[in-house]
Amino acid sequence: MVADGTKTQVVVVGAGPVGLMLAGELRLGGADVVVLERRTAPTTASRATTLHARTMEILDSRGLLDRLGPVPNEVTGHFGGIPLDLSLPGRHPGQWKVPQARTEELLHDWATELGAVVLRGHELRALEVTADHVLAEVAGPVGHLALRAKYVVGCDGEDSTVRRLGGFDFPGTDASRELLRADVAGIDIPDRRFERLERGLAIAARRPDGVTRIMVHEFDRPRRTTGEPGFDDIVQAWRRVTDEDISGGTPLWVNAFGDASRQAARYRDVRLFLAGDAAHQQMPIGGQALNLGLQDAVNLGWKLAAQVRGRGPEGLLDSYHTERHAVGSRTLGNIRAQALLLLGPTETGPVRAVVGELLARDGVREHLAGMISGLDVRYDVGPGSHPLLGARLPYARLLHGGEGGGEPAGEAREMTTPELLRTGRGLLLDLSGDPAHADRTRAAAGPWSGLVDTVIATHRGAGADATPDGALSGTDAVLVRPDGHVAWTGSEGEPDLVTALGRWFGAPAAPHNVMTSKKRRYDMGRLNGRTALVTGASRGIGRATAVRLAQEGALVAVHYASGQEDAEETVASIEKDGGRAFAVQAELGVPGDVHRLFVALENGLKERTGSTELNILVNNAGVMGGAAAEDTTPEQFDRLMAVNAKAPFFIVQRALQNIPSGGRIVNISSGLTRFANPQEIAYAMTKGAVEMLALHYAKALGPRNITVNSVAPGITRNGNPAFGIPEAVEQMAAMSTFNRVGEPQDIADVVAFLATDDARWITGAFIDATGGTLLG
Ligand code: NAP
Repeated sequence: MVADGTKTQVVVVGAGPVGLMLAGELRLGGADVVVLERRTAPTTASRATTLHARTMEILDSRGLLDRLGPVPNEVTGHFGGIPLDLSLPGRHPGQWKVPQARTEELLHDWATELGAVVLRGHELRALEVTADHVLAEVAGPVGHLALRAKYVVGCDGEDSTVRRLGGFDFPGTDASRELLRADVAGIDIPDRRFERLERGLAIAARRPDGVTRIMVHEFDRPRRTTGEPGFDDIVQAWRRVTDEDISGGTPLWVNAFGDASRQAARYRDVRLFLAGDAAHQQMPIGGQALNLGLQDAVNLGWKLAAQVRGRGPEGLLDSYHTERHAVGSRTLGNIRAQALLLLGPTETGPVRAVVGELLARDGVREHLAGMISGLDVRYDVGPGSHPLLGARLPYARLLHGGEGGGEPAGEAREMTTPELLRTGRGLLLDLSGDPAHADRTRAAAGPWSGLVDTVIATHRGAGADATPDGALSGTDAVLVRPDGHVAWTGSEGEPDLVTALGRWFGAPAAPHNVMTSKKRRYDMGRLNGRTALVTGASRGIGRATAVRLAQEGALVAVHYASGQEDAEETVASIEKDGGRAFAVQAELGVPGDVHRLFVALENGLKERTGSTELNILVNNAGVMGGAAAEDTTPEQFDRLMAVNAKAPFFIVQRALQNIPSGGRIVNISSGLTRFANPQEIAYAMTKGAVEMLALHYAKALGPRNITVNSVAPGITRNGNPAFGIPEAVEQMAAMSTFNRVGEPQDIADVVAFLATDDARWITGAFIDATGGTLLG
C-alpha cells in the first residue's frame, strides 16, 4: 500500500520497458522500488518492435526468454537502409520482432512478481532533493501524495519530467527531417524495404496478422512543425512518394519521428538518474533506441540496489554515467550516420553505394553488426588486456559440481552461463579444473559471498551449443558483474581478484561472518552441517521448531513478518545455547513475497556458509480464520489462501533451486482437515490445500531423494489470549486423549524427527500430531 509519506528506496518514473526492466533489476538486487506511471493503462501500440542480440542475452540471463514465447527472427538487418547481415557468434543473432506491448507486459509481470510496486495514473509533479533523500510529489487518482526515496530515476522518455525538474542539460540538435509512420489494416500494397524513390523514402512491411507498417519520408518537404500527424498526412505523403493510394485502410497507430539527436550531459546528478530516452533522444532507426535503454537499466539496477543496501563501493554509481554515456554517445553517432544515409537527399547516392560495398566486407560487417546488436559493448573495468575484460560473458555450457563453502562437490549438473546469472548477483566462475586453484578462488571470494556466487565448473565440451568462439577457454577464472560484464579474468591472479571484488562489490564482509565447513563439523547433533528455513518462526510452533532444529546442529533461518523483536529473541535464544540462526523478514501473501524471502535467505546463508544450499524447509507461517462461513468475506478468504496455501506452494517451488539430495520439506497443516469446526471452514480448506503439496511433491521429488510430509497439530498453546483462561484451556484439553493442550515443543519434536536421516523412509505422509484429539 503506497500512501502519502510512504518511504521507499528507489522511485522509478515511467513504466515503459526501460522503467520496468530497471524495477525488476532493483528488486533482484534487493532494493525496494515504486514505479510511477502517468498513463492509466499499459500501451497497446506496437511502437518499438526490435530486440537485438544483446537484449535477448540479457532476457535469457533473467530467465525471461521462455516466458516471451516464440519470437520471429531476421538475421538480416540494415545500416541506413542498406542490408546488413547481423550474424555474430552468440545464441541470438539478428533482430527479434516483439511488439512493445508484449515486452512491456513481460517486464511488468516479472518486476511485480519480484515485488516492484507499479502505480498507474500517477504523475510526477515536483522533486525536492536533500542531502539524504528525494521527495517526489505525485498527483494520483485520489489526490496528491509525497513519496520519499533515496534515489529517483527518470525512465520517462524523450520529454522526461525528471530531466526537466532535475535541471539536466540536454545538448544536441533538433530534428530537421521526419519519417511518418503508421500501422494500417485493410490495405494490400507491395512490401518495400527501404526504397529510396525519386521523391522520398518508402518502407512497407506486412505482418503475419495482415497489418502493414508503413514509413515514408519526403526528401524536399520541410518537416511538419505541428504535433502528431493525422492518417491523412500519411496518405498524402505515401501517394506523393509511391503513387499508391492507402486511403481505404484503417489506421491502428499513427506517429512521426524526427532525426533530433540529444544526450543528457550527465546521467546522474547526485540522487537523480536518467535512463533510456530520458537520457538520450535519437531517431529509432533499426530499433536501437529501446535496446540502448534496456541496457541502461541493466547497467544501473544492480549498482543502485547495492548502494541502497549499503554495499556499494565508492564510485560505483558514477560508473553508470561513465559507462552508459559513452555507449549512448557512440550509438547516437551511428544513428545520425544512418539517418543521413537513409533520409539524405539524392546527392547521398554515391556515399550509399560506397558504404554498400564496404558492408559486404567481413571486418566491416562484423564491426557494424557488433555495434548495432550491442554485442561489442566493452566497459573499462580495470587493468588487463584479456579480450573478455569489460565484454559480456559469452554463452557456454558448463558442468557444475556444487558451489562454494569448501563443500564436497555434489552431483555434476549441466548449466549454461545465462543460467548462472539468474540470481542477479555477481558470479565468480572457476574453470581451471584444478581443485587447489578452485579452493584459492573460493577463499579469495569468501568475504563477498552474499554478493557473488562462486561456481566451480568445467567446460561441457564441443557441441552445437558449446561456446561458439571458445572465448571462455583462454582463462581459468572470470569475475562477472550482475549485468553480465566480465570484471576480471585470471589464473593465478588472486590479489587482482580481491581488488576487482572490492572495486565492484565493495568492502569485504567481516571475517567472523564466514563460517568454514571445518568449524561446522565440530557441532553436535543429527542435523550438523544442515541449513533450515522455518517460516513464521518468531513465535509459537515455528519458534519451537527453529530452536529444536538448531539444537540438532542446523543453521536456522528464522523467518518472520512483523514480529522483528520476537524473531530476534528466537535467534538470541538459539545463539545463547551455542546454536546458529539468523532472522529473515518477508510478509507472505503479498506480491514479491517469495522473492523477498529468498533474497534475505540466500544472503544470510551465503554469508554464513558460502553457499545457498537449503536442506530443510518448514512451511509453518499461517493465519487462522476464526469466522463462521456465513461471515467470511471474499477478502478474508483470499488472505487465508494467500498466506496459508499459495505462499507455501511458491516457497517450495523456489526452494527447489536450493534443496539438494537428502532435503526435507515439512508443511504444517492442522487437525482441522480431519475433524469439523464450522468456525474454521475457510482456514481448514487452506490446510487441505497444503496437504496436497506433500502428496504430489513427494512423488515428484522422490527421484531427487527429497522427502515431503505434512504435520497436523491439534490445539497448541501459542500466544493466543484464550490460553490464559483456565476454563477455556480445560475445555480444549478435554478434546485430547491425553487431556492437555499441545505445547509447541510437541510439534517441534515431530518436525525435527522428519528432518533427520532417521525419517528417510517417510514421504508423502500425513502425520497426526494432535495428541489424539477427538478419537471418539
Ligand atoms: P502463531 O503463534 O500465530 O505465529 C504465526 C507465525 O506466522 C508468526 O511467526 C508470524 O510472523 C507468521 N505469520 C503470520 N502471518 C504471516 C504472513 N502473512 N507472512 C509471514 N509470516 C506470517 O502461529 P502458531 O499457532 O504457532 O501456528 C503455526 C502453524 O501451525 C500455522 O500454520 C497454524 O495454522 C498451524 N496450526 C496451529 C495450531 C494451534 O493451535 N496453534 C493448530 C493447528 C495448526 P509475525 O509474528 O512476524 O507476524
